[in-house]
Amino acid sequence: MTTLNDAVHWSAELGGGTRVALIQAGTFRSDAGALLGVVPRMMWNRLVTDEIDEQHRILQALNCLLIETPDGRVLVETGIGDRVTGKIRSMRAYEGPWIVPALERAGFNPGTVDAVAVSHLHFDHAGGLLLADGELAFPRARFVAQLAEWRVAMGDNPRIVAAYDQPELSLVRDLGLRGVVDGEAEILPGVTVIPTGGHSAGHQGVVIRGRDTTVGFFGDLCMRPWSANPRWVTAFDDYPLDSVLVKASLFARAAAEEWTIVLSHEPVHPVGQLVRDRDRYHFEASV
Ligand SMILES: [Zn+2]
Repeated sequence: MTTLNDAVHWSAELGGGTRVALIQAGTFRSDAGALLGVVPRMMWNRLVTDEIDEQHRILQALNCLLIETPDGRVLVETGIGDRVTGKIRSMRAYEGPWIVPALERAGFNPGTVDAVAVSHLHFDHAGGLLLADGELAFPRARFVAQLAEWRVAMGDNPRIVAAYDQPELSLVRDLGLRGVVDGEAEILPGVTVIPTGGHSAGHQGVVIRGRDTTVGFFGDLCMRPWSANPRWVTAFDDYPLDSVLVKASLFARAAAEEWTIVLSHEPVHPVGQLVRDRDRYHFEASV
């Protein structure tokens, strides 16, 4: 086991030799209205007043999980990565460190990662698979995404493909096809990906089960504390009605079984629990 240091934002022992560490692979900014979807501004404005900038954007962390089990290491999410132009960097207000130096600072060697799973293939989740020179950032890792996600990511619907970096994805397509899954799959004992759809056609969540504790990571279906309301769905979700239904059923299970939840883009309080609140849930931060 690696020694933890300040570069690890949070970590927990789940029992039975499984440990999860949260590593933030930088931050970027997204339009607040797009993230809050069809929710009226008067309902969300007070939630973002501290972080909104002059371009009406809020700060989004790129939260990744490094899972250590007796059977190997899994990285969940890779952030935006290092292969973006200065123009894109400034347009998105993207600031590093990206996932490779972030992992190294936290004491993890990217060469020891056995599997990389991403919730989906959008630029801010699958951008960190290659080094600047085009070599694989995680040379021995299987790359796990849903088959449905690869199909839509490499498709030609102009609205849908805008969120994918197709030239970059084409460079890792062979790697992706070797590691692809179609449906629920246990990628290492205790680490399961669950297809959800909603945010994107092949979006998936990751559930990590230790002997004592379960951690749920629901990708961009649960990116910020306000995502705990199943009806609060981003305008980026390609299948919003699916998002509402799948969130309600996943969150019911997570609340009933008291899973620890890690939010995909929350910069300040990314870890907590979903607690039932009438016909919805709220996120109670513990970190
Ligand atoms: Zn995202």
